[in-house]
Amino acid sequence: MTERTFSIIKPDATRRNLTGKVNTVIEDAGLRIVAQRRIRMSRAQAEKFYEVHKERPFFGELVEFMMSAPVVVQVLEGENAVARYREVMGATNPAQAAEGTIRKLYAESVGENSVHGSDSLENAKLEMVQFFTEADIVG
Ligand code: ADP
Ligand code: MG
Repeated sequence: MTERTFSIIKPDATRRNLTGKVNTVIEDAGLRIVAQRRIRMSRAQAEKFYEVHKERPFFGELVEFMMSAPVVVQVLEGENAVARYREVMGATNPAQAAEGTIRKLYAESVGENSVHGSDSLENAKLEMVQFFTEADIVG
């Protein structure tokens, strides 16, 4: 089934000028970038986005990291896009990520791991509307 998922190219990647390289991995995996914008996340946006992790010990560090440089927010479209993108991203910890995945190729650590991807279709929809309106998404 054709789906849409929400992606973020994180500050560690934009800082190292890796936006194009990350997008190449995405496109080579058969996913289409149907919306994309470079933004600087506000504290409120970062806290809301990662609200499910607010009790975790790394929450403060994660919010600071997401505000530390520009990010690129994206909507990706393709066959089983949610699961497909999780596969393309690789494990959260780059030390455990499979060969060829974005995190294996580019992530610096478990925290500074280059990309975000929604973990379910329901969360994809909730995350997308935090950054895009339907009119921004051109399939
Ligand atoms: P994922 O991004 O793979 O879905 P999680 O939802 O578990 O991973 O965590 C969200 C983000 O929080 C991670 O991508 C990473 O940036 C950060 N994070 C997760 N675990 C840790 C940790 N142990 N230490 C520091 N940051 C972490
Ligand atoms: Mg997650």
